[in-house]
Amino acid sequence: MTVACTLQDRVRHAERDDYTGEMRFWTLLKRSLLLRCPVCGEGPLFCGLFVMHERCPTCGIKFEREPGFFLGSIYINYGLTSLIAAVAYPLLLFRYRVPETPLMLGSLAFILVFPLFFFRHSRSLWLGFDQWRDPQEGERGEHSQRP
Ligand SMILES: [Zn+2]
Repeated sequence: MTVACTLQDRVRHAERDDYTGEMRFWTLLKRSLLLRCPVCGEGPLFCGLFVMHERCPTCGIKFEREPGFFLGSIYINYGLTSLIAAVAYPLLLFRYRVPETPLMLGSLAFILVFPLFFFRHSRSLWLGFDQWRDPQEGERGEHSQRP
């Protein structure tokens, strides 16, 4: 059986083939950092400061795939907060000789405030990670045409 393959089909296949591996990873990371839907890359994740859309306004995928889905974002948020504090505290104390009391108060303020500022990105990064490891159908590459 012979399948007719037009030039347009070949271009479409090439675009699909290019959107794998490393390129897909960087695309998903970019979408996460821009707080965009990991599947289509266009729909915004948030409609308020801490309020997410239930579904993507553009492609309609459900962001919270199952109850408790976003618990995973806590690992990202807590992990980055802890990492920054664990590196910055001894660095400021021993290298730059920052007095202990203001350093302690500054660290306390940091570990309370930073997770609030990072909340949106930690959820977005979690969504991107989940899409990377367990893709939902309909993911579009950077340059693919809309269906
Ligand atoms: Zn979308």
